[in-house]
Amino acid sequence: MLIIKTIQEYRNQLVKTKKEHATIGFAPTMGALHEGHLSLIRRSKEVNSLSVCSIFVNPTQFNDPKDFEKYPQTIEADIALLVKEKCDILFLPDVKEMYPDGMGNTGKIDFGFSAKTLEGEFRPGHFDGMAQIVEKLLLAVMPDNLYMGQKDFQQAMIVSLLIKKRKLPIHLEVCPIKREKSGLAMSSRNTRLNANDLLIAAELYKTLKAVKSQIKKEQITSTAQAEAAAQKRLQKFNSIKLEYFSWRKVTTLKPIAATPLSEQSVLLIAAWIGGVRLIDNVLID
Ligand code: AMP
Repeated sequence: MLIIKTIQEYRNQLVKTKKEHATIGFAPTMGALHEGHLSLIRRSKEVNSLSVCSIFVNPTQFNDPKDFEKYPQTIEADIALLVKEKCDILFLPDVKEMYPDGMGNTGKIDFGFSAKTLEGEFRPGHFDGMAQIVEKLLLAVMPDNLYMGQKDFQQAMIVSLLIKKRKLPIHLEVCPIKREKSGLAMSSRNTRLNANDLLIAAELYKTLKAVKSQIKKEQITSTAQAEAAAQKRLQKFNSIKLEYFSWRKVTTLKPIAATPLSEQSVLLIAAWIGGVRLIDNVLID
C-alpha cells in the first residue's frame, strides 16, 4: 500500500498509473478503523481497480473541541488493517495540506432543512465542516465511486446533495451498518466506553428495533409516538442521555405525521453514554 501525504504526490502517482485504472473507489475516514470502515474498502475493491482510503481527523467538523482532542488516533494499527485489506493507497494529509489558507469556510453550501435538523440542530456547524472537508477530499482524490456508511445517515444524505450541487461526476454508494454482536453500531468512539457502558450502549439499537417493530404492527403511526415510546424505554437507564429519537422520511428527513406512508422512512437516534456521543439508525420499508 502506498501512503501518500500530499495532493501533488497523489496526482503524480495517478498520472503514472492512470491507464491501469478503469475506476477509482474512495472511502474517506477519520481513522481508528474498525470493521465498518473496512467494509467500505472491501466494497470498493469489489468494484474498482484502484481503492483509496483517507484518514484525516477534520478539525472543522467538531463543534466540541473536547471531542476533537479525545478523538481516538491509532494510525499504526490502521495502516496494518489497510495493508491486510490490500487497500491500494492511503491518503494521509495533515491539516496544512487540507487547509493551506486556514480553516475559514468561504464556500458554504445551503443544504436546507436536511442539514438543520437532527445532527444539524445538536451539532451546530458540524455539517458545514464535514461538507468543506469532503469536497476538498473529493477534489484531491478524484474518485469515480465514493463509499460511505449508512451509520452516518444524514451525513451521506448531505454528501449526496453536495455532489449534486457541485455537479461532481462521482457516484455515492451508501453501505450497510456493521454492528457488534450486541447490535451496537461499530464506531471509533466505542473505544472510549467502559465495559458497563458498552453493554448499555446496545440499548440504542434494541430501542430502534423495538420501535420499528411497533411501527410495522401499526401500533405507532407518527414521529411523536415513536419518540415517546423510545423515551419510555430508555428512561430506565440513568447513564443514557437521549439527545433525539425521531422517525423521518428518507428523502426529506421530514417527520412522519401519519401513516400509511408511500415512501421509505428511517428511525434515528443520538444519545450520550459515559461522556461519549453515539448515533445509530434503522431503515423502515
Ligand atoms: P468516520 O471515520 O467515523 O468518519 O467514518 C468514516 C466512514 O465510515 C463514514 O462513511 C461512516 O459512515 C462509515 N462508518 C462508520 N461506522 C460504520 C459502521 N458501523 N458500519 C458501516 N460504515 C461505517
